[in-house]
Amino acid sequence: MELYELDLYHLMKGLEEKKFSPSEIFTSCKKRIDACEQNIHAFITRTDDAMPEHKEGKLAGIPTVLKDNLCTKGIRTTAASKILGNWRPPYDATAWKYLHEAGAVLMGKVNMDEFAMGNTCGNSAFGPTHNPNDITRVPGGSSGGSAAAVSAGYVPFALGSDTGGSIRQPASYCGVYGFKPTYGMVSRYGLISYGSSLDQIGPFARTVRDLQIIMSVIGQYDPMDSSCFRGKAPDFTSNDNPSIKGKRIALVKEFQSFTLDAPIAEAMTRTRKILEDEGAIIVEVSLPVVARYAVACYYALAMSEAHTNLERYDGVRYGYTVTDAAGVKEMFERVRSYGFGAEVKSRIIAGTCLTEPARCDEYYVAATKVRTLIAQEFSRAFGECDFILQPVTPSLPGKIGEVDDDEMKGYETDLYTLPVNLAGLPGLSFFTGYAGDMPVGLQLIGPRWSDPEILNAGAVIERHTGSPKIANGGVK
Ligand code: GLN
Repeated sequence: MELYELDLYHLMKGLEEKKFSPSEIFTSCKKRIDACEQNIHAFITRTDDAMPEHKEGKLAGIPTVLKDNLCTKGIRTTAASKILGNWRPPYDATAWKYLHEAGAVLMGKVNMDEFAMGNTCGNSAFGPTHNPNDITRVPGGSSGGSAAAVSAGYVPFALGSDTGGSIRQPASYCGVYGFKPTYGMVSRYGLISYGSSLDQIGPFARTVRDLQIIMSVIGQYDPMDSSCFRGKAPDFTSNDNPSIKGKRIALVKEFQSFTLDAPIAEAMTRTRKILEDEGAIIVEVSLPVVARYAVACYYALAMSEAHTNLERYDGVRYGYTVTDAAGVKEMFERVRSYGFGAEVKSRIIAGTCLTEPARCDEYYVAATKVRTLIAQEFSRAFGECDFILQPVTPSLPGKIGEVDDDEMKGYETDLYTLPVNLAGLPGLSFFTGYAGDMPVGLQLIGPRWSDPEILNAGAVIERHTGSPKIANGGVK
């Protein structure tokens, strides 16, 4: 067995017992990256030229990668856009700062949909990332590079961000675990903003225990993010023998009539059986507003917030610029026309329309009200159940480059993930098994701040399914 094949927990254990050294881990992961990267293309920037100086700490010597919308001091951070050019942030994102202080080793910055807008990793100015389980397929997005890196065995864990599903969807497409924490559980300081009221940073790993280890490092209060929780951090690793006996786990009534591809429907049936065998009680909750309005509500809000957040890219303060423009207006025009990709531009334009004074009440303000109804609907549902079980997506990942004539369809496939962000809830995307070569994931959702309990429930399911294996990465 090669070192890159070990999960985070076993790497930490082996280091402690001095079975191997940090530099042996570094070399093994780097070799794995060299072997697969031409097939996968997960990286935008590699930082693994040389092993950095040894640091003490809980994660000492553990390699990782970060989605390229997380700021890294002195290291190019692009959000997969041309507009940031070779921008090197003057500071670290807090989540990375906490990992770095714990001794984690950065192997590089990984691919994503530009400014996290998309669900295929195909909207990147740096070209698409490939799914390590089948390199003709998309890895999902927007955090596709993070999911692919963990799935191919580049690193035992990675960070991504989730605004409407961008951790959970690529996790399920690549066959790893991905966790979107409660809004406010992890500091967003240094995360390049997309929709600030929806964005949240979270981990990818190949076991639930590894997610728990990472959450215990990054789930800490940060005074630099005013939406970050205050007080003592929850204990993510306390439960050695988790149980879901007597827990009420709900299926969503309105979703029952929606079509799912066979492997996902089968995974739902299998998982339901696992939960029942473990003593959970399966119930049903009704989420009519979610089922009907969540997609429209999410995109109205996400685009509105994105258009404001992306105003700052004007060629003056960051990255790409032109020096021979006739005036300021021409400069903005040329910088933004060249710098942003098509999807980002169309969302900026949509966001501008949704918030312009004449229509703001009808669209943006209406969407904020629907969002409140959605949050209330979830609160009511969590009065009747402990967790909700549902798909992450209705189908398995499509082929790279496949375009759907119906552009709205890409947005609609986010139906199962984005309500979680609208209500600020935690959501776990977990592995259930394989359909042929492709992994199949599902999702557990809980009330706000139930993050440790969701992960424990995930660990119960993992006892039955086993953890995913490392994908072949296109290497025969
Ligand atoms: N696919 C969704 C979007 O494009 C979610 C993306 C995300 O979570 N960053 O908005």
